[in-house]
Amino acid sequence: MRPLPLLIPLYLVVALIGAGGMARPAAPTAAAADVTIVALPTRPRWEGRSSRPIRVFIAPGSAVAGWRPELMDAVWNGFRQWSTQGVPVRFTRAASPTSADVIVEWVDALPGTCIGKTWREDVGAEISTARITLALHDHRGLGLTVAMQRGAALHEIGHLLGLEHVGQRSSIMYPQVWVTDISTGDRNALRDLYAQPGRAVAD
Ligand SMILES: [Zn+2]
Repeated sequence: MRPLPLLIPLYLVVALIGAGGMARPAAPTAAAADVTIVALPTRPRWEGRSSRPIRVFIAPGSAVAGWRPELMDAVWNGFRQWSTQGVPVRFTRAASPTSADVIVEWVDALPGTCIGKTWREDVGAEISTARITLALHDHRGLGLTVAMQRGAALHEIGHLLGLEHVGQRSSIMYPQVWVTDISTGDRNALRDLYAQPGRAVAD
């Protein structure tokens, strides 16, 4: 059996908790998209990407107000952090969007309480391409802190690797940014996903 020829775009978002430390959590906005993922028979992941690194193009956001060049290194650092966790996935920087599997871009703001979004194309149980959009401001126009942006980037890269939302606030995969680092539980979840035997997706 060949995989379905259709690419399935998945929209996954991370929401902003109340700014200024007075957290008034917004309802997770990605529930519908996540239900779609949970319903899949096998959880999608990248295949064979330790020998063939995933090519990441980080687009400069120089046209977006408030963007700073050092954000590119910060995001790239996030990719490196996830790929050093005993997972058979490696990343390399791509020189152009056309030669990339993954594109990271910045926008001024995202709708509602979203501060990050991952658009992922899955072919069968294999992740094919992805695009991460990161916001520089919240929906009220307030600039996101460096910590908030770091948390959002790590969260979206988690989605990019195949992780779904979890219910623990100590996890970077909680649907809101409460922590800004990858937890032991997150690392274990990723190892579990990639420790499953290889799944043939063609023929
Ligand atoms: Zn999310």
